Amino acid sequence: MDSGRTLMPMTIKSVNPYNSQVLKTYEELTDMQVDGLVSRAYDAYQAWRRTSFRERSEYLTRVAGEMQRRIQELAGFATLEMGKRIRESVGELKLSASIVEYYAANGEKFLQPQKIEARYGDAEIHYEPLGPLLGVMPWNFPYYQVVRFAAPNLMAGNVVLVKHASIVPQTAVAIEEVFRAAGGMEGLYTNLLIGSSKVGRIIEDPRIAGVSLTGSTEAGKAIAAKAGESLKKVVLELGGSDPFIVLDDANVEKAVSQAVWSRMLNMGQQCTAAKRFIVSDAVADRFLAGFTEALKKLQPGDPMAQETTLAPLSSESQAKTLEGQIDLAVSHGAKVLLGGKRMDRPGAFLEPTIITDVKPESPAYKEEFFGPVALFFTAKDEAEAIRLANSTPFGLGGAVFTENPERGRRVASLIESGMVWVNHPTLSSPELPFGGIKNSGFGRELSSLGITEFVNKKLVRLTSVNDPF
Ligand code: NAP
Repeated sequence: MDSGRTLMPMTIKSVNPYNSQVLKTYEELTDMQVDGLVSRAYDAYQAWRRTSFRERSEYLTRVAGEMQRRIQELAGFATLEMGKRIRESVGELKLSASIVEYYAANGEKFLQPQKIEARYGDAEIHYEPLGPLLGVMPWNFPYYQVVRFAAPNLMAGNVVLVKHASIVPQTAVAIEEVFRAAGGMEGLYTNLLIGSSKVGRIIEDPRIAGVSLTGSTEAGKAIAAKAGESLKKVVLELGGSDPFIVLDDANVEKAVSQAVWSRMLNMGQQCTAAKRFIVSDAVADRFLAGFTEALKKLQPGDPMAQETTLAPLSSESQAKTLEGQIDLAVSHGAKVLLGGKRMDRPGAFLEPTIITDVKPESPAYKEEFFGPVALFFTAKDEAEAIRLANSTPFGLGGAVFTENPERGRRVASLIESGMVWVNHPTLSSPELPFGGIKNSGFGRELSSLGITEFVNKKLVRLTSVNDPF
């Protein structure tokens, strides 16, 4: 990330990873155009911050309605640009609309002034907006990630500018159209068609009040450093390598089907996908046999087709990165139990892969595999499972399978992550807080917590002049 002032504008390409066809190209915005859009957003903020919750709620309700109305068309953009199976794109849009509706319905309640018991007089915390915010977003859930940032912040009285991932420009443009079609003033939601080199300059802009990134740990470090230089509030939703623990008393068949779902949803390109399978010695053979069998059955095809069960990865470069990670793991002693290679067909296809014997010294042990690659470990007992689960630099989600709820609660309390599920893989829902610790970032999205990240928690103290100091 540099200032971007001297760089030639780049061309942003929309490419179909199923057949490498270039669908559309866009010229990146110039610095002058970006400045104009930041000014417009800043002006909109001056008016929007004074609107009532009711007005904001009505606007967001129209946004959700617009998303529902255009659901098939919008789903098509994501599938064409990043290869998500069309059923999954439709599911993502339904979840996204529900998040927008959730904040429209509950935002006012979450931001009511809170009374504090004080020694004398009245003391209240008021939640006030901060200003225009920059969101830097990833391609993997190109609608869901954006609304997770945009909906609570618009409800709180902030306005948002979004630099979306460069591989999903059509989706990015379509989201802006949805927000515009819902009415409201120009500048509430602004799409910035730019590459990552221009992000730093926007963070530095004094009119920008904060920045939220969902993306890789590397991008998180770069953005946090820039935000630190200009003392801007930052929220980071970063990568993960979530453990999926199967204890000796688990329902193994159910655990297998959930493992397949969690590792293969979105072709494995999910921050909270189960990435490391840590299975008790007592049930390891059964689990592995079922898991391998289920992965072998997946059928590659066009992600636009309803019957396809195995989609391409989001891009050629994503497929190459994963292939390189697998080869590196093997060169450090790992064994490939299933898959491990590109498929012999056009497009960014990779075989569903299971790797074992990944040693702590191997780079794979501490990396995120952002695709259909499962790292498989066995554990002799609960303590070893917990130790393995906590032995990466990440701390996003996690899952533990056991038929004993008390045991599930205990193991969950010992896992170092922002979210743990017992008997389900990590899932997302509007009312549940989402976020991580360690290299998975900081701050929370969704729920009542997500709407208070970018607000001024202002103390208003009402006293009498005769009250003591
Ligand atoms: P990425 O390469 O970090 O890109 C994410 C966004 O950051 C893109 O808009 C990208 O722009 C921009 N970016 C990248 N490097 C930057 C830099 N140095 N300075 C400023 N902006 C920069 O991540 P991705 O490949 O899109 O997404 C996958 C990653 O996101 C995975 O690690 C995944 O686990 C994580 N993720 C986390 C969550 C969560 O909630 N914790 C959710 C989803 C995904 P360009 O596209 O122009 O490069």
